[in-house]
Amino acid sequence: MSNGNPDQSPSVEPQAMLEQVRSSIAYQHERLRPPSLHADRKAAKQARHKAKHHKYTKAAFFRYCYYEPAFKFFCEQVLDVDYLPLPEATRLTDEMGVQNSSDYVCTPFKHILGDFIEALDRGADILIQFGGPCRLGYYGELQESILRDMGYEFIMLNFSHGIELGYVGWAKECIKLVNPKIDIPHGVVQLKATGKMIECLDELRDFYLANAGFEVEKGAFDAAWERAMDAFRTCMDERDINAAFRDAMAELRAIPLDKPADPIRIGIVGELFTAIDERANLELDHKLTAMGVEVHRMLNFTNRYLRYNEPNLRAGAKDYLTYDMGPTSTMTVLAAKKYGEAGFDGVIHAKSAGCTPEIDCIPVLQRVSEDFRMPILYLTYDSQTSDTGLDTRLEAFYDMLSMKKEKRK
Ligand code: SF4
Repeated sequence: MSNGNPDQSPSVEPQAMLEQVRSSIAYQHERLRPPSLHADRKAAKQARHKAKHHKYTKAAFFRYCYYEPAFKFFCEQVLDVDYLPLPEATRLTDEMGVQNSSDYVCTPFKHILGDFIEALDRGADILIQFGGPCRLGYYGELQESILRDMGYEFIMLNFSHGIELGYVGWAKECIKLVNPKIDIPHGVVQLKATGKMIECLDELRDFYLANAGFEVEKGAFDAAWERAMDAFRTCMDERDINAAFRDAMAELRAIPLDKPADPIRIGIVGELFTAIDERANLELDHKLTAMGVEVHRMLNFTNRYLRYNEPNLRAGAKDYLTYDMGPTSTMTVLAAKKYGEAGFDGVIHAKSAGCTPEIDCIPVLQRVSEDFRMPILYLTYDSQTSDTGLDTRLEAFYDMLSMKKEKRK
């Protein structure tokens, strides 16, 4: 109804407008539902998916670096089976691995075998071995036969099988051996999310290595790191992974630092297991950061598997390499060269005893060391390597680098 004045709006219009605004606000509220309701819907959807596709069988990985949340995610979200977490390794775990391995096999084999024995003792039905570009590719079969000889019954998901068919071969193995009810499109999406989680873990670790040595409050980085690992363990999809990463990175960045303008910088290069895995290298990351070193390590899962292009990398180190010499050799040499070019104070080359590809890298690294006048410490680990011997060598290396740096000033 109009009030008859052409200059004024009709009397019902303000009311109608008000209603319109109210309903649009209500609509916006509806769209921005409280997260708890959203979480309920998400949980209900996941429960329906689980009822249809999940297989109640326990899968276990061996312990490897900081990738445990990604292994858990892979088992639960891609294979759709239960995941069996392993606690910290004990001396007994390592002894079981050593006792049941040949003396001549490289150390990662012994660690992995010990982990598998422990996993089977804890009730694992499925063991997962992801093959590898050196003799690691044969480890799965050898370990499987050792474990069967020991009397264990289990399923071995060995990604060295079907490798010639790539992802198709692996998918067939998973369906045949592990879970015939796998939801393939869902599994593919979650496999991509697994890759994302690995990238996030590596990026966080890079930040940790470069800065943990300069924290004002001792233990702040480790505490934040553990919280990040817990958050990643609860992720159900890529959105959760991105959120966990954002929070974790924000927390690490917020830690107060007391970092000199020109700290001692050391790059770690070497073999895929020993150069990264803190159990295998006797906590090399922690020992170096405790000395106040800025640590860098190009070698990780992201760079070695997800973004790996060996010919391209080799082109970057063409002064030193003509051929692909082994699983991590190109990255070892290229990373050392890049550290030299960037003026790093030193490099640590970490490898397992008996690692032929990394032994071959040593003469090349010696050339890199001479060319850039950059000292390299060569560390070889076996199951007998002691903490004390390692501490002494690292301290001597650090002192030498500090004196060299002082002289240059
Ligand atoms: S890279 Fe070396 S230590 Fe690692 S599995 Fe291969 S040969 Fe063994």
